[in-house]
Amino acid sequence: MMELIHALWFLKRDILSVDYDRALDRLSRELPMSVHAYPTGELCWTWRVPEKWTCHEAYLETLDGRRLLDYADHPLHVISYSLPFDGVVGRDELLRHLHVHPRLPDAIPFVFKYYERDWGLCATQQLRDSLTEDAYRVVIRSTFEAGILKVGEVLIPGQSPECFVMVAHLCHPAMVNDDLTGVVVGLEAARRLLQHAVDSGAPPYYTYRLLILPETIGSVAYLSHNEPLIPSMRAGLFLEMLGNDSPHTLQGSFQPGSQADKCLRAAFADQDPQGYTAPYRRIIDNDERQFNAPGVRVPMLSLSRVEAPKAINPVPYREYHSSHDRPEIVTQERLEASCQVLLGLLQAWERNQYVVNRFKGEIFCSGYGIWVDYRVNPEGHRRLFEIMERCDGERTVADIADELGISFQAVWEVVALLEEKELVYFSRKPVPTTPVRA
Ligand SMILES: [Zn+2]
Repeated sequence: MMELIHALWFLKRDILSVDYDRALDRLSRELPMSVHAYPTGELCWTWRVPEKWTCHEAYLETLDGRRLLDYADHPLHVISYSLPFDGVVGRDELLRHLHVHPRLPDAIPFVFKYYERDWGLCATQQLRDSLTEDAYRVVIRSTFEAGILKVGEVLIPGQSPECFVMVAHLCHPAMVNDDLTGVVVGLEAARRLLQHAVDSGAPPYYTYRLLILPETIGSVAYLSHNEPLIPSMRAGLFLEMLGNDSPHTLQGSFQPGSQADKCLRAAFADQDPQGYTAPYRRIIDNDERQFNAPGVRVPMLSLSRVEAPKAINPVPYREYHSSHDRPEIVTQERLEASCQVLLGLLQAWERNQYVVNRFKGEIFCSGYGIWVDYRVNPEGHRRLFEIMERCDGERTVADIADELGISFQAVWEVVALLEEKELVYFSRKPVPTTPVRA
C-alpha cells in the first residue's frame, strides 16, 4: 500500500486531468478493473461532467523577476480549476487571489473552484506576510477542454447480485491521507476478497464493488448511469483518511435502522476498541452523501480515522487539505490495521443472516451441553438466554446485537454454537416461526 502511495501521491490528480488518468491507469494494473467513461458535458441527473483542466505553468514574481512561488515545485500553488491569468497586479488584488491555510502558516492550502470561474494562487502564510511591494507579476497558463471523467470499478462477483459498494476518491493533487489511503486500503481488501474466493473455492454471498472516482461528480456520474443497479445495492462503505494516527471512526448512514447500519455498527465494536461511532454527517461528509441521497437511498456508512466528531473539532486531522498531507503522516501498519477492520466488517456483513429456530419453547440447555452456570458466569448466562429468545426467524444476527446493545461477535458466538447443535439455521430471508393468530 505504501508503495502505491509513493508512486501516485505527488501526481496532479485534479478531477478530470492527465495525472488523474495516469493514477487510475497505474491502479488498473493492480487488479482487474473496468473503467467507466463519462465525457465533458454529459448530464448526470442535475449535474454535468466538467471540463478537463490542465495547468501547464504558473508562477508569482516580483517585477524585477524574482520568482516567489512556482507550480513546478508544488501542484497546490494553483487553485484546482483556476482560470488562466497573465499580468501585473497591485498588492491588494493579488492578496484577494492568494489563498493561505487557515491553521498551518507553513503549509500551502488545497483550494478548488470546480464550478466557480476565478483565478487564484496558494501560498504559505509566511510567504503572504512577506509581500510588501506595490505590484507583482502573475502567470497561470491553464487550459479547459473537453475530457473524460473516469471511474474505476473492481468487481468481486458473489453468489447473489445483491451488492455491497465500497467507494474511495482518487482526486486531490499531491495529498495522501485524503484520500489515496482509502483507495489503497479498498484495493488491498478487494485483492484479499478475490484471493479468498480462489483459495476457498467459493465466491462470497454478496457481490462487492469497489469504485475509485473523483469525489462527488464521480459518484453522481456512476449512479446516474447505472440506475438499474441501485436496487441491488444493499449496503455501502465510504473509505477515507485511513493512514493517520487516530482511532477508527464509523459514521452511520442516512438510514440508521438499516441492516447495514446495525450490522456494521455492531461489528465495529469488535474491530477497534478505541474507535467511536457517530450518526450520518456528524464525522465527515463525502461521496456517501450521493449514495444516501433521495432517489438512491443506499445505506452507505463511512470508515475513517477522524480525530473527533465535527461538533468537537471541525478539522478531521491536522494536515487536512494542505501540503503537509504527505506520505510521512501515514504508515503501512495503520493502513494494514484499517484493511483488517474493513475485512472484519465485511465478514460480519456476509454472516448477517436471519436466525431461524428449529426448536420450540425454551431450549433445554443442560441437555445440549450449552448451559452457562449463572453462579460462575451470571453475565454469560443472561446473554445466552437473551440471545436464544430472539432466535425466531424474524431477527438477523445484527438485529439481536442491536437490540441487546452488544457486539456482533458476542451474538455470533452463541448462534454459531446453536447452529452447530442443529438448534437453529441461517436464512437470507425472514422465516417467521411464530404461529399466526387470527
Ligand atoms: Zn478532501
